[in-house]
Amino acid sequence: MKKIAVFSTKPYDKAFLDRANTPTRMQLDYFETRLKRESVKLVEGYDAVSCFVNDIVDESVLQCLVDMGISLIVLRCAGFNNVDLAAAQRLGVQVSRVPSYSPESVAEHAVAMMLALNRKINKAYNRVKEHNFDLDGLMGFNMQQATIGVIGTGKIGLAALRALRGFGSTLLCHDPYPNDEAAALADYVPLDTLFRTCDIISLHCPLMESTYHLIDKTSIAQMKDGVMLINTSRGALLNAQDALDGMKQGKIGYLGLDVYELEGELFFRDLSDRVMHDDVFGLLLSYHNVLVTGHQGYFTREALTEIAQTTLNNVEAHFSG
Ligand code: NAD
Repeated sequence: MKKIAVFSTKPYDKAFLDRANTPTRMQLDYFETRLKRESVKLVEGYDAVSCFVNDIVDESVLQCLVDMGISLIVLRCAGFNNVDLAAAQRLGVQVSRVPSYSPESVAEHAVAMMLALNRKINKAYNRVKEHNFDLDGLMGFNMQQATIGVIGTGKIGLAALRALRGFGSTLLCHDPYPNDEAAALADYVPLDTLFRTCDIISLHCPLMESTYHLIDKTSIAQMKDGVMLINTSRGALLNAQDALDGMKQGKIGYLGLDVYELEGELFFRDLSDRVMHDDVFGLLLSYHNVLVTGHQGYFTREALTEIAQTTLNNVEAHFSG
């Protein structure tokens, strides 16, 4: 029997993990807390830990895990920017992730944000709820006439391009590693061309040192006036303060965020008061042309099923050699 400590769990994680199949007998114990330095002691007596996007697996946490005899971290997500991979390698800790789970789920969320922002669905709904059928300020544009840029043409970026193709929009994309499937749907262009020409820009690249604050005041300055920015990838791809300034100046016309740099704190509410009241986040929320969701891009039935099954398969593969 292998004992797995599953961190950052919500009731739905438990439901899907309990339903997944695995030949090895495993005991899954669920912790609603985040794995971080302060909580790592909970792992005593376990064989592996499972983490999610907001757990903080830095060198000190990894060292504690090793001291407790744990050499496996199974991530229930695709991104791995919250794990110090260099330290993990040095300490001999194996890290597995779920590299692919229904890329359509995130891609469709990005497209949903584009449409909701364009057609001002939130504002319209709030108005109609008050029996106000005035259309003033609700005018949108046809997606067919828009030029849309996708940054990162891996699994999710490609799924986004496939979905967007249906609108008949002009599609551009950028990726240091182009692929044929995306090239068949969109034109690869240099980043500055994409910034200069797109009406809508959607981020689908991972967060790495080279992509940290990829969208900042310099890149925003190159964009079209009134550009729509969508980030369903990782919060720190976008400098939120610069985005706020861009909103204030009217340079950014619409902003759709499913991810936010401080979302770990917001998700777990340990710092939410501070963040909501005097941080950039609270100010961004005050704009009617900003739409924010709480990292729910992946949150479909199909994706949760795949995440649970792959996570347990990863544990199984590790312990069965
Ligand atoms: P992927 O690895 O299949 O594709 C990422 C692509 O980005 C690759 O083609 C890579 O070459 C490209 N890339 C790397 N550096 C780049 C750069 N500087 N500029 C442009 N492109 C660059 O990953 P994926 O499955 O498509 O996921 C993309 C990201 O989506 C993940 O890294 C993760 O952060 C995010 N994500 C978000 C959610 C959510 O719920 N919102 C869920 C899953 C994944």
